[in-house]
Amino acid sequence: MKLGDIELHSILENYFLIDGGAMFGVIPKVIWGKIYQSDDKNLIRLDLNPLLIKTGKDIIVVDTGFGDILNERELKMYPLPGPTKWDDELNRLDLKPEDITGVIFTHAHADHAMGALKKGKDGQPELRFPNARIFVQKGEWHDAMNPNERTMATYLVHNLRVIDESGKLELVDGDTNLFPGVSVKVTGGHTPYSQAILVDGGGERVIYPADIMPSSAHIRVPYVAAVDLDPAVTMQQKRWLNERMLKDDWIIAFDHDLAFKFAKFKEGEKGKIEPVTVG
Ligand SMILES: [Zn+2]
Repeated sequence: MKLGDIELHSILENYFLIDGGAMFGVIPKVIWGKIYQSDDKNLIRLDLNPLLIKTGKDIIVVDTGFGDILNERELKMYPLPGPTKWDDELNRLDLKPEDITGVIFTHAHADHAMGALKKGKDGQPELRFPNARIFVQKGEWHDAMNPNERTMATYLVHNLRVIDESGKLELVDGDTNLFPGVSVKVTGGHTPYSQAILVDGGGERVIYPADIMPSSAHIRVPYVAAVDLDPAVTMQQKRWLNERMLKDDWIIAFDHDLAFKFAKFKEGEKGKIEPVTVG
């Protein structure tokens, strides 16, 4: 998809399975089960869709999927169907990992940050995109490096440390313009310092809100994942996002949707918001 001179691509890094209840919070299965398929273990499939942005000067990756550095114990928690598709996806776009100049994490959960690493020759994790500056909110990084009993399973500190010590990490404090046409906005909700990425070009705006609205099944305000640390904030941000999507005709890039990668919203019957694919 193109916004003026800026090119955007939704990457399919991999997919994973997660407990359906964890993704729908207070919504009972009799209701979410009608809109989202689950298997006999109640697991649902989520795609891992980083966003790749070409500005003409920079090539930026927003979130990175799980990558291929999870150990056996971690893979039991996050079952992956196969290896990371990063190389295939970059090949498809005629790019090499060295071409990436920026990585932005919406937050540092394993399914967003671990793909920034790969297994090196000695089996130890190293940077997948060796020339990229890596951006994350300062508060998010602090929380990720100091997890509590609840967040420990999603922040894999032993791997995040490699990024911490890489010399490539740049901590961002609040809403900031990182590249021409590319800015970040703190949303909170999913984690206190989760951020959305905004891309502006050709008079249009794409938003990548990440896990405050991970898929088109989460457009409705109360459909908030049980894993969100502050669901009331997520709901408030979704009200704002839905209003902007409809009134300002923004384009959303979902991070975990199976069918909709880029979409606009329209108001359907009884005020129900429906996604419409674009790009
Ligand atoms: Zn996620």
